[in-house]
Amino acid sequence: TKQNGGKSYTVYDYHLGRKFQDNNELEEELVRAINDQVITSFYQPKLDLSTGKLVGCESLARWQRSNGKYVPPDLFIEIAEKKHRINQLSTSLFTKTFKSISDMNLPSDFITSVNVSAMVLLDDNFQSNFIEYIHQSGLALNQIEIEITETCLIKDFEKVKSTLSSLRSQGIKIAIDDFGTGFASLNYLTQLDIDTIKIDKSFVGQLDNKGKSNRVIVESIIIMSHKLGYKVVAEGVETISQLEILKELECDLVQGYLISKPVNNFFFKSFINEFDYM
Ligand code: C2E
Ligand code: CA
Ligand code: CA
Ligand code: CA
Repeated sequence: TKQNGGKSYTVYDYHLGRKFQDNNELEEELVRAINDQVITSFYQPKLDLSTGKLVGCESLARWQRSNGKYVPPDLFIEIAEKKHRINQLSTSLFTKTFKSISDMNLPSDFITSVNVSAMVLLDDNFQSNFIEYIHQSGLALNQIEIEITETCLIKDFEKVKSTLSSLRSQGIKIAIDDFGTGFASLNYLTQLDIDTIKIDKSFVGQLDNKGKSNRVIVESIIIMSHKLGYKVVAEGVETISQLEILKELECDLVQGYLISKPVNNFFFKSFINEFDYM
């Protein structure tokens, strides 16, 4: 009826209004947080399955709002892009990450990975700035890896390709993140100069379920990647049985809550120093 329609419209409108207002507040607070550099990096270790050693880590952005709540990074990264603040945010995260890791005096073959979104990668100044930040921290270029998602590849493939191959020729490692979930076609893999494939956690999470199709997918990704000369990292490893299956399938590195959640630099430093090698 007309009355019902009117009623539900009011409710709908009210929620829309609320949502809009919340987002505006969130956006404004984010811009301030970026300016004040309060967004930090947490670190999650990567375990080498053949040696049982921690051989690297991924830097993950963390933003704690003034109300104490953490905002998911996918969300605030997207807002930062929309607000044209992603380069500013990324610069601040790169420099914090490189400085923190450099201060930990880790072995020279320890690799630190950072996430780089398409918008940042396609910026004309990205390459020279990024290399400069690494140099300033005292780390070497071959201690850094860039994780890009497959969706990144569809924006301007030729430009992404040449940027990546130039970075790689200088020693920086390149990983394709969330492999298997994006829009990129398999033949991109043969056209790109990369080092690592990261199997998305959605496949890893299903590994120890009864159905065997995920195991076939993961096994196929590993075999194909190895044939192409790439290392394979499985992300989102939460159980011993997932880890054992991945070891059987000759996956190179694993990352996930089973080994450690992402933690702040203070905890990461003590964790990595006290880690009991398997
Ligand atoms: P991602 O790069 O695929 O990062 C892996 C996500 O899986 C992280 O979520 C991590 O905390 C989570 N994770 C790690 N181990 C496990 C596990 O065992 N189980 C489960 N269920 N999850 C696990 P997070 O930190 O919420 O980040 C989400 C996404 O936000 C990232 O996905 C990445 O795309 C983006 N992101 C995070 N930090 C940055 C950054 O500094 N720059 C950019 N451009 N993107 C970032
Ligand atoms: Ca990543
Ligand atoms: Ca991922
Ligand atoms: Ca992801």
